[in-house]
Amino acid sequence: MIRKPFFSPRLPRLSYTVLPKDAGLPLQVPPIPGAASPSPWPKEGLDDALARPALDFALRHLEKLPGGLSFSPFASLENAIHTIVMVGMDQDLLSTSVQQAIRESKDGMAHGARILKQITRVEKLILVVPDHLRETAAGCGCEVRTTSLAYPGFLPKLLMHRVFNHTVPAGLEPQDLGFLFVSAESVAALGRAFAQGKRDDDKIITVIAKNGAAQNVRVAVGTPIGHILRFCGIQAKDRDRVILGGPMRGKAVFSTDLPVEPDTDALMVQDAEDIVAPSLSPCINCGACVRLCPAKIQINMLVRFLENGLYQEAADRYDLFSCVECGLCSWACVSRIPIFQHIMLAKHEIARLKAKGHNL
Ligand code: SF4
Ligand code: SF4
Repeated sequence: MIRKPFFSPRLPRLSYTVLPKDAGLPLQVPPIPGAASPSPWPKEGLDDALARPALDFALRHLEKLPGGLSFSPFASLENAIHTIVMVGMDQDLLSTSVQQAIRESKDGMAHGARILKQITRVEKLILVVPDHLRETAAGCGCEVRTTSLAYPGFLPKLLMHRVFNHTVPAGLEPQDLGFLFVSAESVAALGRAFAQGKRDDDKIITVIAKNGAAQNVRVAVGTPIGHILRFCGIQAKDRDRVILGGPMRGKAVFSTDLPVEPDTDALMVQDAEDIVAPSLSPCINCGACVRLCPAKIQINMLVRFLENGLYQEAADRYDLFSCVECGLCSWACVSRIPIFQHIMLAKHEIARLKAKGHNL
């Protein structure tokens, strides 16, 4: 049997996509009539707030900038963040929106990095980019590190291991070790806001058509995804799959009325003909997923617990919380077990039960 990849038969290679040098500027998706704009900043004290960026101002007016930057970790008394890592690379295959954002906003990024330092009082800012963006990144005024384009090397926990030589223990996040990861697009948006004296919520997203063709567009956060698809001339028919995010880590959505979120980097439509349905076939212990897993999880065992709803046992015995959420296992599985979806459901259920006070 010839195996079709689970998520998309149109994936090129397991390598992040490089934005071509001659890629033009992204087209602007016109706002929908009556769409709300970000509230203007109060005039009183604004000059002072712009001259002396402070956390209080950021918490009130700059939360969830395009790219998803949040200042709330710095509001906590337990905050021990010593390093901010600005990720200058996309998080999924086929997406090039973050590369486009930093290529376009080199000055905005340098300005944003200075403001970020002042607001957070964190001295160490490091920009991580792939090799081809080293030159672009050089002008941002902070330390630059590079890493290869092999997927999924730009996910925060893997960057922690490969670039910063720290292993994030299962169940913890980089933030617990004092590293806060933010999208470089957010830093550019911060610089832009301070340069203009107002917030704008435009962000770049990569729109991936059914034939795999991708284009970057600029769009306001909150725009319904159906509006963007119409602008790009893409029709999502009955039984096609609309995905917020890219082919490996994206989430299928049930309605094109849903909005673009601050951290949405890609939007994808998969033709009904190309969708490979999950199966109820059992794991055959082929080991394909185990060989690919960057966290070295024994997935063939993990999946047996997940399929039976034994989530806490999966965490205790087979490293559920070591998963870095790359999606490679689902992509590789010859039995077409939706492993990644099982993993995400299990993590969600454990978090939900803990929040309700269950003693797991
Ligand atoms: S998604 Fe799958 S392959 Fe990726 S880290 Fe998690 S278990 Fe491993
Ligand atoms: S790829 Fe699928 S069938 Fe093979 S070991 Fe992993 S879960 Fe089992």
